[in-house]
Amino acid sequence: MSAMIGGMGMAADTGSHALDEWRLDAQPYYAPAGGEIEQFEAAFHQRTPLLLKGPTGCGKTRLVEHMAWRLGLPLVTVACNEDTTAGDLLGRWLLDADGTRWQDGPLTLAARHGAICYLDEVVEARPDTLVAIHPLSDTRRMLPLDRHGELVHAHPDFMLVVSYNPGGGRLLKTSTRQRFCGLECHYPPPELEAAILMHEAGIDAAQARPLVALGTRTRRLVGNGLDEGASTRMLVRAAQFVAQGMAPRAACQMAIATPLSDAADMQQALAAAIDASF
Ligand code: ADP
Repeated sequence: MSAMIGGMGMAADTGSHALDEWRLDAQPYYAPAGGEIEQFEAAFHQRTPLLLKGPTGCGKTRLVEHMAWRLGLPLVTVACNEDTTAGDLLGRWLLDADGTRWQDGPLTLAARHGAICYLDEVVEARPDTLVAIHPLSDTRRMLPLDRHGELVHAHPDFMLVVSYNPGGGRLLKTSTRQRFCGLECHYPPPELEAAILMHEAGIDAAQARPLVALGTRTRRLVGNGLDEGASTRMLVRAAQFVAQGMAPRAACQMAIATPLSDAADMQQALAAAIDASF
């Protein structure tokens, strides 16, 4: 389980201010590609759990951050990995000087007090984690805390959002996916991706365009030896090196080509893609 946005660890688990540290105080920049802002809002108004489907680094987390700010809700984020268990999300008994004390986990906090709970890469978590979110993700909107002997009824402002990368190798079970509505997330179209690089790194359009062209070229290599092309996140990183004064080819080698693949023939293909872009 990772740290949560704006958080410095677990908040106190009681009281109306429990989620204060997860409120976003500035608007996270998000450039929409289509109707995703309205569709996210529609899901929130229906209190429907939302599945964001798309490759890593294409803007899913940024969309959730932007929407939390837009809807005026705190955002509790959990980056799931193979060690994430239901207990990590629900909470646990802690031992301190005064005895034992129950501490809500991030999912319980969000459900109890009203927040967006974003489970990033949910399919990586242990299977018991997915089972734990089932009663919250159907019309019951309840969270049984067996270890605490409590049934939490979700706050009206609670929303569950999960992200899932279908190209990541692990599949989401039908019984889980049928509880969600879904938004397909893609890399931004070229003009928009260039605008994002300009905003995020402070480079100009002439510097952004070849980086976007390189991104497009690497994405064409998918299926021919690459599992995924350069993400928008990788392009932003290259753009930040360029903004710092690094030569664009060196920036792309370091931010994109080297991390993308270990295979010698793919490194050649990526070097050719860099040559073609600059
Ligand atoms: P994901 O959650 O899909 O792995 P992120 O949301 O973390 O990806 O996106 C990675 C980075 O790409 C962000 O930090 C941001 O700089 C940039 N980005 C991607 N898409 C957008 C977008 N539509 N608007 C603004 N920034 C974006």
